[in-house]
Amino acid sequence: MSDTNFFRRLLASLAASVYPGLCPLCQTPLEKADARFCAPCEASLIPLGPPRCPKCGEPFVAPDTGDHLCGNCSRRKPPFARARAYGLYQGALAEGIKRLKFSNHFALDRRLAVLLEQAFIAEMSGAAYDLIIPVPLHRKRLRQRGFNQAILIALPLTRHHHLRLDHHNLVRVRDTPPQYGLSRRQREQNVKGAFSLQAPKAIAGRRVLLVDDILTTGATARECARTLRRAKAANIDVLTLARAGMARAPTGPEESDPGAGEEEA
Ligand SMILES: [Zn+2]
Ligand SMILES: [Zn+2]
Repeated sequence: MSDTNFFRRLLASLAASVYPGLCPLCQTPLEKADARFCAPCEASLIPLGPPRCPKCGEPFVAPDTGDHLCGNCSRRKPPFARARAYGLYQGALAEGIKRLKFSNHFALDRRLAVLLEQAFIAEMSGAAYDLIIPVPLHRKRLRQRGFNQAILIALPLTRHHHLRLDHHNLVRVRDTPPQYGLSRRQREQNVKGAFSLQAPKAIAGRRVLLVDDILTTGATARECARTLRRAKAANIDVLTLARAGMARAPTGPEESDPGAGEEEA
């Protein structure tokens, strides 16, 4: 973590302890001191569940369709077993993820981590994992930001469920441009060959849970999973805080929402 970032985060943390009664997203006073967000922010959270694609977790608009493979997964089977997310990338969750990346905030990463853990318990608690691997940042981006938000949100989960966090083995070897504004195909090209394993043997036979803040088209998760599969991982699941997009929604957040598309930023 760079010194500047460290002090910014320290100040944010001190402010949060001096003014514990503010919503970490919109800074309005919380009605209850132990609430994680204010009532309007809390109400804007849209937790995800069925109907969805059993593979990539893409949510479907029509409530009576039942789970079925989405078009993308029917055309090409993803290299991971399944991807799940806490909620839809919009409202307070989208705001929180943007803030987490661009304005360091200790209280916020803890509260977002609670949502990730909630999704883990709901979706993944029956599964066993040998390793939790956060999607890595390129070292240049890590130097600029001072922290990897995927590690911050994964930490409480690994502690509470006695899981092993491995944030050294999988590395981003190419500093890819941000995914924002790119089509699905361009995103895939953009991250192709971007990841590598320092010690591939440590992955062989392991059940891995990949963790990231947001999944948009899944290009980043697919590329990470491909890298892990080449090293013979036994199983790969993906868990993110947010999932962009509703299938066939009139305006897809991938192209129209300036906040989406930071999948790998
Ligand atoms: Zn709020
Ligand atoms: Zn799918």
